[in-house]
Amino acid sequence: MSIGKIIDGKAFAAGLRDRVAEGVAAFVEQAGRKPGLAVVLVGEDPASSVYVRSKGKMTVAVGMESYEFKRPASIGEDDLLDLIEELNQDERVDGILVQLPLPKHINEAAVIAAIDPAKDVDGFHVINSGLLATGQEALVPCTPLGCLMLLKDELGDLSGLEAVVVGRSNIVGKPMAQLLLGESCTVTIAHSRTRDLASVIHRADIVVAAVGRAEMVKGEWIKPGATVIDVGINRVADTEEEGKSRIVGDVATAEALAHVRAITPVPGGVGPMTIAVLLRNTLVAAHARAGLAKPDAL
Ligand code: NDP
Repeated sequence: MSIGKIIDGKAFAAGLRDRVAEGVAAFVEQAGRKPGLAVVLVGEDPASSVYVRSKGKMTVAVGMESYEFKRPASIGEDDLLDLIEELNQDERVDGILVQLPLPKHINEAAVIAAIDPAKDVDGFHVINSGLLATGQEALVPCTPLGCLMLLKDELGDLSGLEAVVVGRSNIVGKPMAQLLLGESCTVTIAHSRTRDLASVIHRADIVVAAVGRAEMVKGEWIKPGATVIDVGINRVADTEEEGKSRIVGDVATAEALAHVRAITPVPGGVGPMTIAVLLRNTLVAAHARAGLAKPDAL
């Protein structure tokens, strides 16, 4: 029985960050300033704080300016919208990222709508999702764009392939499906109401699982030779060490390995791509704002 390949997202992300760093150096020469990324963190959620800190470090490591704005969970929506407007006007800022989720009293959609679409490096603004849906140049959500990069690196031309995306969220599932359609795949979007998920998945050459349910996609559901991208991040109790937990994806990876051509592991697959693509999007936004062409390597 042959065993599929494990796609090394960590290594691909490191290579992408290197290409971004080269692009940043060239941008500084041409534009006479560094690209800047502003990250807004509301509240004290420990996971969000860790994530924002690591974004800041990686932003600086590729040669960009990092601006962090921490606000208490009690901030009013109007004050947050005022901050977004300041950042929209700030010439040094090419990308604005508001760390989600926001506290319940703040309307997330209103905050996302307030971000200048040209600085919307998360790609969540309806202008960017509309541009993506109509096949135009857009800032695309980082996680699905990272998944597409891994798929193209593994498979080359995706044209004509059957792709099944499990999950229909605005941040992963829907933009992932749009990207695959843009690559001329035949795309099916599955979700919690899908009947007979196993047989839907079994016809796919490409499976992208973005559900948030530990190891729900079983190995035998996967068509032999399919490529599987596992976006899920699920914390489960460790069966070997009592009291410990570990992170698993949405796919039963050990089983799937006997069926797949290639699969992303969790951790070390899609996860590391998200920040690398965020940096890439910031550099792309900086080029567009400066009236410069996007570097080919991105
Ligand atoms: P959401 O909870 O927003 O969406 C989950 C989707 O899965 C929904 O569309 C839901 O369907 C669908 N779903 C739920 N149960 C089933 C089921 N039994 N069968 C089929 N579909 C089902 O999650 P996100 O899209 O935000 O995230 C998905 C996963 O990806 C999470 O584990 C998250 O942690 C991870 N993630 C990882 C990132 C990374 O950097 N690696 C970044 C972002 C997310 P319905 O719409 O019908 O409810």
